[in-house]
Amino acid sequence: MNPPVRVLYLAGSGRSGSTLVTTVLGQYDGVFAAGELRYLWQRGEVENRPCGCGRPLRDCPLWGEVRRELPTDRAAAIAAGLRGRLRMRGLPALLRRHRRGVRPVPAHPDDAVLADLYAAVARHTGARVVVDSSKLPPYGALVGALPGIELRVLHLVRDPRATAFSWRRRRGLDGDADPELMSRPPVGKAALLWLVWNTVTVRLWADRAPAGYLRVRYEDLTADPEATLRRIAAFAGVDPDGGPFTGPATVRLTPTHSVAGNPSRHRTGPVPITADVQWRHDLSRRSYALVTALTAPGLRRFGYPWRRGVPAPAGAGRTARGGPAAAGGRSVGVGRAGSTGHEEG
Ligand SMILES: [Zn+2]
Repeated sequence: MNPPVRVLYLAGSGRSGSTLVTTVLGQYDGVFAAGELRYLWQRGEVENRPCGCGRPLRDCPLWGEVRRELPTDRAAAIAAGLRGRLRMRGLPALLRRHRRGVRPVPAHPDDAVLADLYAAVARHTGARVVVDSSKLPPYGALVGALPGIELRVLHLVRDPRATAFSWRRRRGLDGDADPELMSRPPVGKAALLWLVWNTVTVRLWADRAPAGYLRVRYEDLTADPEATLRRIAAFAGVDPDGGPFTGPATVRLTPTHSVAGNPSRHRTGPVPITADVQWRHDLSRRSYALVTALTAPGLRRFGYPWRRGVPAPAGAGRTARGGPAAAGGRSVGVGRAGSTGHEEG
């Protein structure tokens, strides 16, 4: 019997820094940055989109080894099955099952293939921790119920006014040259999705399994990157000293083999982790008010101010483990020095 595969699942809403955290964690010894594995079947296998290493997924030698153990001819059907099981309208039933103590996403014949995927990834990479940045809470609940998986949940939260602004940016799915754009929901929809996914993440894991749950605000992460990543590494069970930091806020990145995710996952070399506060100036007054009103219950829970320019109190993020991190009312992003507009997914 093989030991269980430890999966660090990045949960929450999009545009909250998950690509940055995944890429940085992938530099630690014993960690494999798998990216958004829920998209492996469609964007990876069917559409053959680029791996983090730059090659089309089906040409990547590492994924070639893993794929040999999987029924890749059934990829489109597996992708369709996942979409059906993870639909938004299934959320109330999912939460009812969770409250009753039964598995939130009912078992399905494809579950054996999904369990094989995580086991094959761990075996071929030799990783002790597989980072899955799929974010969608229902998929995390599905993975957590698979046989042979030990799930730890890292909940990344970012100011919803910043994420709503980021969602509106026009960006290619795999970089600026890609004609297929990342989704651009209107700010009202982005706000509601933020509230739903962050609330569901808390219900699924923070309330029920606090020992396997760590919440980190993106603002705290970027205010003190090295210390925050050390805390995340320790939570994942990885040597916190083994990171890629060359300074408190600078990392040296080598290519990963992550699937899907923000185009910034292809960045390599020295990368400073810096604040991006463009939304503070460029998010319209009307959008700010709309997002603030729609996300009000979450603003209070996660420690974000109502009014623009009011810093959040220190430690308002109420991290679930390890105590409060640095103060942060700032909304920040990540970019190379000298460039603007880089945001994380
Ligand atoms: Zn690759």
